[in-house]
Amino acid sequence: MTKIIILPGDGIGPEVTREAVACLDLLSDHFDLGFRFEEHPFGGAAIDACGDPLPESTLKACRNADAIFLGAVGGPKWDRAEKRPEAGLLGLRSALGLFANLRPARVIEGLEDLSPLKAKVAAGADVLVVRELTGGLYFGARTDEGEVATDLCTYSREEVERIAHVAFREAGRRGGKVTSVDKANVLATSKLWRRVVEDVAAQYPDVALDHMYVDAAAMALVAAPGRFDVILTENLFGDILSDQLSVIGGSIGLLGSASRGEDGPMMFEPIHGSAPDIAGLDIANPAGAIASAAMLLELGLGLPEQAAMLNNALEQVLVDGVRTADLGGDARCSGFGAQVRERLEARL
Ligand code: ATP
Ligand code: MG
Repeated sequence: MTKIIILPGDGIGPEVTREAVACLDLLSDHFDLGFRFEEHPFGGAAIDACGDPLPESTLKACRNADAIFLGAVGGPKWDRAEKRPEAGLLGLRSALGLFANLRPARVIEGLEDLSPLKAKVAAGADVLVVRELTGGLYFGARTDEGEVATDLCTYSREEVERIAHVAFREAGRRGGKVTSVDKANVLATSKLWRRVVEDVAAQYPDVALDHMYVDAAAMALVAAPGRFDVILTENLFGDILSDQLSVIGGSIGLLGSASRGEDGPMMFEPIHGSAPDIAGLDIANPAGAIASAAMLLELGLGLPEQAAMLNNALEQVLVDGVRTADLGGDARCSGFGAQVRERLEARL
């Protein structure tokens, strides 16, 4: 039995999660994988249900899971709430020690026209962002007194080492290279970052390494995304660059992500948020959630064949021209999911 914890969350979270889980269920049935799905309240939905965005029972279930699937959290409903849905997400990441966030983005062959970049620039872009997720400015001490405020950015050698190892391992698997992004001409944390990354690189002689300043990297991502393979970077830079990168394939609704710690269960979620503006209308793009489910199969459960099947079915649906509203079409969230499962069944 394989226990998969489902946290549908808020906004479009439940809609896109439903489509992704149905794909996993289909594969589990066919290959006799014994998946057991267990749904738990999380985020705003959990605040409504029990006054806490990360209930103790949800955290306990996550700790004991084989893998965790998250829809999305947050929304205007809780903007003025005493507890915020996002606090639940940061709490869960930190409780499970999920220090590495993997965000792959690529332009699908034949779908270059979906990219806002010129098709020629976008062709061949296939980038994995490895973002440090539990350090840096997001977790440093803050002061906000009157007219002066401070956010402290701290990194230790150990924190940089462990995320660098993740990036070099991933680059090795892809047969690619690492571009480490920092601001080492200015920031002390970036100078340390660069030294440590150089040290770690010595252990991976087969993986090439280059360094870029974050401002130059932002430019290059738009001008020539094909020059990148694995981008290794700290928390804030990774947040910004991966949102920028998310649209080169066509829509933020297309991409999935994985978060991992030293050991323990991994968590998988689409990179988009709860999109309250389109929640409940059955028009959200479930592709990012389905791509996350494929990552769950491959990275979370070690089932690369089934992951490839799901990815192929997903790509085929897009290549066949089925498009949700974010990509200019009129396919429904549920309809898109059903089409993916139809292609999947045809391959079984
Ligand atoms: P968060 O703070 O959680 O990252 P956000 O407010 O930054 O959330 P999203 O919720 O990702 O942003 O939404 C940004 C825009 O993208 C919205 O207009 C939303 O409708 C659109 N969007 C996001 N996800 C999807 C999706 N899966 N399908 C279609 N449109 C989407
Ligand atoms: Mg966002």
